[in-house]
Amino acid sequence: MKAAVVPQLGSPLEIREVPVPEVTPGTVLIRTHACGVCHTDLHAANGDWPLKPTVPFIPGHEGVGEIVALGSGVDFVKLGSRVGVPWLHTACGRCEFCQTGWETLCARQQCTGYTINGGFAEYILADPNYLGFLPDGLDYVSAAPILCAGVTTYKGLKESEVRPGEWCAIVGIGGLGHLAVQYAKAMGMKVCAVARSNEKLDLAKKLGADMVVNSRDTSLAIQEVQDKLGGVHGALVTAVTNEAFGMTIGLLRRKGTMALVGLPPGDFPTPIFDVVLKRLTIRGSIVGNRKDLQEALDFAGEKKVASHAKTDKLENINQIFSDLEAGKINGRIVLDFANL
Ligand SMILES: [Zn+2]
Ligand SMILES: [Zn+2]
Repeated sequence: MKAAVVPQLGSPLEIREVPVPEVTPGTVLIRTHACGVCHTDLHAANGDWPLKPTVPFIPGHEGVGEIVALGSGVDFVKLGSRVGVPWLHTACGRCEFCQTGWETLCARQQCTGYTINGGFAEYILADPNYLGFLPDGLDYVSAAPILCAGVTTYKGLKESEVRPGEWCAIVGIGGLGHLAVQYAKAMGMKVCAVARSNEKLDLAKKLGADMVVNSRDTSLAIQEVQDKLGGVHGALVTAVTNEAFGMTIGLLRRKGTMALVGLPPGDFPTPIFDVVLKRLTIRGSIVGNRKDLQEALDFAGEKKVASHAKTDKLENINQIFSDLEAGKINGRIVLDFANL
């Protein structure tokens, strides 16, 4: 099969012919139809994070396709089922996190396209217990970005604890933020979109944002949100600048919660006095569990949420990575294996 392989951390990917993986007991083989390209894939290939992947490996954690082989003992999925292989490839199933629906925190988890081969390949080996199932009518290219970008924003919104009818600030209207606006509306929230470019704010308006705030001047943005709304009940930070994190604390009303899903390097200043006296919550959020993933896919299946995706070819992965690094990509690039 054809695959994009990371030969060494920091080197360009190589398009190689590699053997199709063979199913082992308890696994399934998926023929890939599409796979989204996430910033995390770039970090994986560059070895940017403290826990490094072992080379060579195949990135990609938004792979979707059909099941073409079942390992022994697999009796609850069918050949031909349309599925996706998310970041959370598998987990131990026994620790206190796995027992309580927090398999995303399992210390023994495997991560697709990082600790185990992923979706930049014509076939993917997967643990059927951790697959997402694609709703009827949701095509592969539209489904792929939901596997990471979709579930990450959807779970982050849940973690903001904003209830229907309350205000949620979505900070950053890029690949994650444009999905977050749609999920938040579908969840009944009032959306205040915050971004530095008016073009992105226009997009947020089109997607249903109730209010938009330009944050080129962060103190003016804070003032506007406090004056008009008395602060937001919660916020989701998808932006990847530390400045955005610091600003978001100022957007919250008392008892507000901010959920963080963006990963800029470094730290941001936290005004301890505000956090304590206003009883603020600052909370990290990492992808979502299997139920979150299924809900995120179902919203997309009902056409309440759609990712702005453009298709490209596996062969162009290095160009896609450099565009991603240069911030030239709006929305999601999805590798379309139908046009390999
Ligand atoms: Zn991702
Ligand atoms: Zn576990």
